[in-house]
Amino acid sequence: MMQAAREVSVFGDAIAYFNEAAELLDLEPGMRRLLTKPSRQIIFSIPFQRDSGELEVFTGYRVQYNFARGPAKGGIRYHPGVTLDEVTALAFWMTWKCAVVDLPFGGGKGGVTCDPLTLSKGELERITRRYAAELVEVVGPDKDVPAPDVGTTPQIMAWFMDTYSMHVRQHVPGVVTGKPLEIGGSRGRVEATGRGASLVALAQMRRMGIDPKGARIVIQGFGNVGSVAAQMFADAGCKVIAISDVTGAYASETGLDIANAVAYAQEHHSLDGFRGGDKITNDALLELDCDVLVPAALEKQLNVGNAARVNAKLIVEGANGPTTPDADHIFTQRGITTIPDIVANAGGVTVSYFEWAQNRAGYPWKESEVNERLADVMLDNFAKVSDLAQLRNVPLRTAAYMLAIDRVVASMNVRGVYA
Ligand code: NAD
Repeated sequence: MMQAAREVSVFGDAIAYFNEAAELLDLEPGMRRLLTKPSRQIIFSIPFQRDSGELEVFTGYRVQYNFARGPAKGGIRYHPGVTLDEVTALAFWMTWKCAVVDLPFGGGKGGVTCDPLTLSKGELERITRRYAAELVEVVGPDKDVPAPDVGTTPQIMAWFMDTYSMHVRQHVPGVVTGKPLEIGGSRGRVEATGRGASLVALAQMRRMGIDPKGARIVIQGFGNVGSVAAQMFADAGCKVIAISDVTGAYASETGLDIANAVAYAQEHHSLDGFRGGDKITNDALLELDCDVLVPAALEKQLNVGNAARVNAKLIVEGANGPTTPDADHIFTQRGITTIPDIVANAGGVTVSYFEWAQNRAGYPWKESEVNERLADVMLDNFAKVSDLAQLRNVPLRTAAYMLAIDRVVASMNVRGVYA
């Protein structure tokens, strides 16, 4: 029974990583108990009317994991697999992600169990407005600041911001990030996660003596994160030999034309039917011989079922939680380096922070400024993680958690626990 429960718990897996780092930090048991429990979990029904007039009810979630360093921060996921367990794990990761790149935010995450691909624009708008209305009291620029995640878009953020602003009777752009530019979105936000992931990947490749020119890159997931990362790797002279999305995987030994694949995916809303490479299975993609593998789709893609056959020198976790702890140990034993999710995909929340800061100042930045500051934040903090990993002789993931936990605990210790 226990074993089965553990296998399905994303949050259980997430805590395993935390515990490893907490042990090395000698974190005292009370603090450990506090940090392995979410501050607040909210579940509610979202009644909405289908275009046909039929009344439907979905379930919505928002988890505010920790507020020690600032307002909760984290995306909203629209996906059929959304559960309280998954949202809690994602909020937990956001806590460490914000801390590891030193942003003044805590961690949060939200979601609706639904399949956005089967919903019309009007249905999505009604669901989003009801979702936002349910959360009016608990979100806000100084409370909790949502953003896009899997299945949600800048347009959805615009509806959220509009609904919140209507309820509180004032214009509040800083209640969400990842908005369209017209209403206070930041330049460079859409590309930020993929850009950040490729920046730290290229830094690590240099450290490992992998020449970016011609380096073989494999990318799982061709959405916001995967497609931008693919383009950045191609721009750096790398050879992207395989990409995939939910419709299948596409490979070419000589390297794919990424600009062409991006244009195709934009036009057809997926890679289905893409002829720029040989069609292979999604499972085969994860086992291709490559320098860098970037899982940029969903959780648990690298697991005990395939870890022994993964054939990469470096794994860069564009997605949240793509590697199970068991698989992670296999990679460490096999000498495969992993840049963990909380560092590799922190570019998105970093530019979300810039967006929030621009909204509060009422002063937008140029794209070059955004990208320059993003590179500074990512590379400075990644260097700290690398140094700590070397100093303590631990994997990058453990070092990243140690740095993040240390920062959150420092804030909690100064504030004191209201107990
Ligand atoms: P997205 O919805 O834009 O794209 C997801 C992609 O993964 C799609 O191409 C989809 O077809 C593909 N996919 C789904 N299941 C797959 C499978 N089994 N095999 C291959 N491909 C599959 O989402 P996104 O915003 O790119 O997010 C991807 C991951 O990155 C998620 O884990 C998300 O939490 C994480 N992330 C996103 C951001 C961001 O700014 N968007 C920031 C940090 C982390």
